[in-house]
Amino acid sequence: MSKFFTSKYASLTPYTPGEQPRDMQYVKLNTNESPFPPSPAVLKAAAEQAGKLQLYSDPELSTLRAQLAEVYGVRPDQVIATNGSDEVLNFAFMAFADEIAFPDITYGFYPVFAELNHIPYQEIPLKADFSIDPDDYVNLNKTIVIANPNAPTGLCLSLADIERIIQSNPNNVVIVDEAYVDFGGESAVGLVDKYDNLLVTQTFSKSRSMAGARLGFGIGNEKLIADLNTIRYSTNPYNVNRMTEFAGAAALTENGYYMANCRTIMENRAWTTEALEKLGFQVLPSMANFVFAKSDKIGGEALYLALKQRGVLVRHFTKARIKDYNRITIGTLEQMKTLITAIQDILQTLSS
Ligand code: PMP
Repeated sequence: MSKFFTSKYASLTPYTPGEQPRDMQYVKLNTNESPFPPSPAVLKAAAEQAGKLQLYSDPELSTLRAQLAEVYGVRPDQVIATNGSDEVLNFAFMAFADEIAFPDITYGFYPVFAELNHIPYQEIPLKADFSIDPDDYVNLNKTIVIANPNAPTGLCLSLADIERIIQSNPNNVVIVDEAYVDFGGESAVGLVDKYDNLLVTQTFSKSRSMAGARLGFGIGNEKLIADLNTIRYSTNPYNVNRMTEFAGAAALTENGYYMANCRTIMENRAWTTEALEKLGFQVLPSMANFVFAKSDKIGGEALYLALKQRGVLVRHFTKARIKDYNRITIGTLEQMKTLITAIQDILQTLSS
């Protein structure tokens, strides 16, 4: 730390993103990216806009927001687009939270956003089976953020439970982070007209193969969206670059391609779960594009390191409650077969 770093942030522990190593070609199952490339219209739109990079992007992101509104059955004034969903989440913490609650095991950025913005936070323990107890959030009287499906567990709350939480906290915003909803979850977007305290966030990073473009969005009551725009225009009005805006709009015109990819991932998830269980792993029932699994035969970190040595990257977290587990992104069937072969090899080496 330099002597100039402000005391306001001196104790901040930043978020640690998953590794993006360049030393060799890995089977990359560590950051929940899609194994499938963007669709042709996306490539065309990005190339067209690349030729106009001398111009700023549209601060209103009108083309993209109109498309999002159409696909999600809402009005454009109920939509904000951001530089990844991390950005809309941070904006929501800034805009709506004096005090915020989230599970003890969830997306690691939530405590970072809270600390960055000096917001006191409560981490509510998941149940022993890693599920969220919705009763913990009913009448909580704090801003709430819940990832549904949750990460890194992959477990879902039902829409009825989500609605109960929203309904019982009318004086606080409930942020439902649906980064992984397209892999089998139930979206709360249909509730935004009913509840003025609901903000749903989603991303193009997972189901729509655009992690590198950085595009996320929020859907909620138009007054919530206006507040988020107050923050956005006070930070970076050109937060989404023009290639990404038009690439995102193009992706929405080819939604069928992406939703078919999601179905493939769900099939590969079922295959991987079964293969891991056959090897003695405990695998949580995931509704996301990853599984969270542990083995009694090898510790979480040891497995992560042994897999890395064999060219397969998965994500290991050091937090005590989940240190025995690894989060494994679901890729192509070929990638998942490579993973399983590598694990078989590791387990064999252990027992020989
Ligand atoms: N929410 C959750 C639960 C996530 O796992 C991620 C991905 N790391 C994000 C939000 C943010 O993703 P992005 O900024 O790429 O949209």
